[in-house]
Amino acid sequence: MVAVTAICATLLVSLGLAQPATAAPAWPVISNGSTGADVGAAQYLLRSHGHDIAADNQFGAATESATVAFQKSKGYEADGVIGVETWPGLVVTVREGESGDAVAAAQTALNKHGYGLAVDGQFGSGTASAVTKFQNDNGLTADGIVGPETWQNLLGQGGGGGGGSYSLPIARDALSRDHYNAPHHDYPALDLPVGTGTPVYAVHSGVANQINNDRCGIGYEVVGNDGATYYYCHFSAHGVGSGAQVDAGTQLGLSGNTGNSTGPHLHLEVIAGGANRCPQNAMLAIYDGNSPPAPGDLPTSGCIE
Ligand SMILES: [Zn+2]
Repeated sequence: MVAVTAICATLLVSLGLAQPATAAPAWPVISNGSTGADVGAAQYLLRSHGHDIAADNQFGAATESATVAFQKSKGYEADGVIGVETWPGLVVTVREGESGDAVAAAQTALNKHGYGLAVDGQFGSGTASAVTKFQNDNGLTADGIVGPETWQNLLGQGGGGGGGSYSLPIARDALSRDHYNAPHHDYPALDLPVGTGTPVYAVHSGVANQINNDRCGIGYEVVGNDGATYYYCHFSAHGVGSGAQVDAGTQLGLSGNTGNSTGPHLHLEVIAGGANRCPQNAMLAIYDGNSPPAPGDLPTSGCIE
């Protein structure tokens, strides 16, 4: 068990950057090399349109070929990139009682938001409950049907996207780029000023373990598949159970002000090679849609104010 040293004394509460829910979020843009739940959802949707590819969350040559074929069938630009033009034609409206790959796509997209559904392609009552809750939480008509608007919200939220197999921990449009470059107050880490109740997403895939102590408060240790251990602190609520396998962009819970914290914010810590790393360069790369440096290559100094 690694000691958690999340102590946040000075905070940026006064910036008040919580975002109201307004227009539908932008569709994600994925292409060859992308990974994660959005890719898995796209693969299931391509399957539902008759393209027999594996749904493995890895956008490789087979997915690219299927995408190009799908785009040609629709008269879209056949560039192999699934973005604002391709998604609306790719998504399929699904509802309770239906089954198949489009339902599996919806379950994959819902799980990005922490619902933990079995991806079995069967739209039963559990999936319907998750859809209705997601719609209520996002100000959508709570009809339990995954139609175009719900699809756009499911796919357009859940971390920053881009950056290969990494995600921003907070929705990209909630904070400016500068927030990801801010020095920490006393040791290598990052504080992000977000209001209580803001969804927090896993930066990278791994195994999540719940934390609840007087320093971190409600939070998570995620043992990442990249060899780093990530700490997320000061939540108001847990979203996934201990031992849960999470992907980049999976919702871990909701931010808050628990533990040793003097105002709502997310504290993020990256530990690799036994040392606290400065997360700033990695977060900026992800923000810019690039793959971040390996955690062990991040500096251990230079990010303290
Ligand atoms: Zn902190």
